[in-house]
Amino acid sequence: MSDSTPKDVLVVGGGLVGACAALALAERGARVSVLDRGVPGHEASQVAAGMLAAQAEVPEPGPGFDLALSCLSRYPAVLERLAAHVEGGPADLGFVRSGSVLVARDEAGAEALGRRGAWHRALGIEARELTPADLRQIAPEAAPEALSGLHFPADARVSAPVLTAAALAAARSAGVEVTSMAPVAGLSTREGRVVGVRLADGERIAAERVLLAAGAWSAGIGSLPLAKDSVVPCRGLVAVLQWRLPPSSPVLYSAHGPVRYLCPQPDGTVVAGGTADFVGFRREAPAGQVAEVLAGATALTATGAGRPFHGVRVGFRPFSRDDLPLLGPSSVLEGLFYATGHGRTGILCGPPTAWDLAPVVLGEAPLPEALRPFDPARLERSPRGGDAAGA
Ligand SMILES: Cc1cc2nc3c(=O)[nH]c(=O)nc-3n(C[C@H](O)[C@H](O)[C@H](O)COP(=O)(O)OP(=O)(O)OC[C@H]3O[C@@H](n4cnc5c(N)ncnc54)[C@H](O)[C@@H]3O)c2cc1C
Repeated sequence: MSDSTPKDVLVVGGGLVGACAALALAERGARVSVLDRGVPGHEASQVAAGMLAAQAEVPEPGPGFDLALSCLSRYPAVLERLAAHVEGGPADLGFVRSGSVLVARDEAGAEALGRRGAWHRALGIEARELTPADLRQIAPEAAPEALSGLHFPADARVSAPVLTAAALAAARSAGVEVTSMAPVAGLSTREGRVVGVRLADGERIAAERVLLAAGAWSAGIGSLPLAKDSVVPCRGLVAVLQWRLPPSSPVLYSAHGPVRYLCPQPDGTVVAGGTADFVGFRREAPAGQVAEVLAGATALTATGAGRPFHGVRVGFRPFSRDDLPLLGPSSVLEGLFYATGHGRTGILCGPPTAWDLAPVVLGEAPLPEALRPFDPARLERSPRGGDAAGA
């Protein structure tokens, strides 16, 4: 670390979540340092397709859906905050209110879309069922044999790599110190409170508060009151295709089988995704999975099969044990806070909730009511090894 003055907050992890949290804290006047074990911004936040698809990505109503919807509605304000620190506006971060279109190719798929649309409308949320003629108009690139579709016009997308780089640049310009190649091995604690962190080379760095934003690696940090399976890596593979869909094209999803999508990018390429498996941190791209993703992509469009394929990206989604993020203070260690476990929707939910958490981390406000379902206490162990939530 270049500056030895103790920080108010050490943020462990320099992905999109850590970068936004650091910026939000610095905006409130805190002295903040981000420590990353590798190159900040080069893990899941750079691999992600960039869907801000509250309606298309979250399959059922519940707290995860409510959070995703609330984050989607607040996203433009977050982008304005980022744009205040870096050149350009929300459009330069790849933000497009493109909507999502789910496409069914048979009766079973059409029925599933019908049910999905119905529960959205029952909650008063726009979800329009599409005939083949509507599909040709809204998503002309969708495969011609599509039987029906479901349109979520409020969904959006962003460029995840561009946004993550911008969040890191914005944090630096707000005075945050961002350190690469600084793996945190564990927390330093004294009498039930956090007093800093311990790096893998033994160096200790003091801080009043530590915010854990280490993505899929979060539960591996030493001295945490979390079981190792509280946050685990969900490997995801996406293919990058040079298919050049129109810039305003909606994200296309298949209504069939595992989640398959085509997400246009601001550079004219398309990200096709995505696989999901639990194999630890194995970064290889199995040939069979590449083939499955490409088959899913070509089934979604009329025009894809003959077009160029650029390559694949593999990353690790941080999946929590109950599929909900951990947001807020530790119930066991004073001074420890969590912003992790965002799973499939970290690009969508990470930035807005980073701004929600900043006053909580600085002791200026309690955890907002809307974040109660994500209170980390539910997954923490008590100091004696029991379940903190039940203790
Ligand atoms: C294939 C794929 C597609 C996705 N698509 C979408 C999408 O379209 N929309 C969406 O909302 N979400 C999507 N996601 C999920 C999203 O990418 C993640 O939820 C989000 O990026 C998590 O951000 P993060 O900052 O927590 O983690 P990361 O970006 O992984 O960052 C964690 C950082 O912590 C650092 N770190 C780890 N351990 C330590 C340590 N011990 N010490 C110091 N630093 C450490 C790492 O080096 C890394 O830089 C996708 C994910 C994948 C894999």
